[in-house]
Amino acid sequence: MTAEALPAGQPLRTTKETHPNLPPGLVLGPDGKPCKVCNSWQDWAKMKVKKKDDGAGTAPSTSKTAAGATAAAAAVALTASTSTSTPASADARANCPPDTAALGRATWTFLHTTAAYYPLTASKTQQTQMRSLLTSLPGLYPCTWCADDFGKDIVANPPDVTGRAGLSKWLCERHNEVNRKLGKTEFGCGEKNLAERWKDGPADGSCD
Ligand SMILES: Cc1cc2nc3c(=O)[nH]c(=O)nc-3n(C[C@H](O)[C@H](O)[C@H](O)COP(=O)(O)OP(=O)(O)OC[C@H]3O[C@@H](n4cnc5c(N)ncnc54)[C@H](O)[C@@H]3O)c2cc1C
Repeated sequence: MTAEALPAGQPLRTTKETHPNLPPGLVLGPDGKPCKVCNSWQDWAKMKVKKKDDGAGTAPSTSKTAAGATAAAAAVALTASTSTSTPASADARANCPPDTAALGRATWTFLHTTAAYYPLTASKTQQTQMRSLLTSLPGLYPCTWCADDFGKDIVANPPDVTGRAGLSKWLCERHNEVNRKLGKTEFGCGEKNLAERWKDGPADGSCD
């Protein structure tokens, strides 16, 4: 089956629905093709292994959705580790194109750090710029299914751009929305906790 571009506004689909001959769950991009930055590198690696195993230039096949990914991810990691061409460690992948997690970490670092240095009381211009930055993300963020959920979340919870404390807390809560979705521990959104993580470092000086 060839992957064709999805009509504008059509929800993102996974391989199970659009590519029934491929293992279910791989997230496809808006063009209907597997999307590197919408998936984990482990799943992407499995896709390469599978393609090699098939011995043909068929459409790549593999793995997962946001929910229920654990079993698939475990299988994927196992298969991927047999590939000699796939760097296995995080260090070895430092200069590789980002997967969903690497892009997420970098983006959260940028956003939380920007919030940590945002003016205590922002001017009208700074508020407009910050609102514009945040509301642009859902339309531009390349992990499209992440972006869709984030877009809905910020419509339901509009950004507080008035100043540092409000913005940092708002952002922490949005990040916690994603943490909850992924089954991760929630982060404490108190002012001191956020300043310690994203600006000042801990009192013991371990980050000085
Ligand atoms: C807008 C956006 C939407 C995303 N949506 C999805 C998605 O739908 N599905 C998906 O699989 N991935 C998504 N991601 C990526 C995901 O959030 C993580 O970045 C990724 O899973 C890597 O997680 P991590 O455990 O390394 O730490 P991250 O979640 O990236 O966090 C990095 C660091 O931030 C700190 N931190 C954690 N939580 C908070 C918080 N609430 N406030 C302040 N600091 C905090 C911690 O010190 C942590 O180590 C999204 C990322 C972004 C930026």
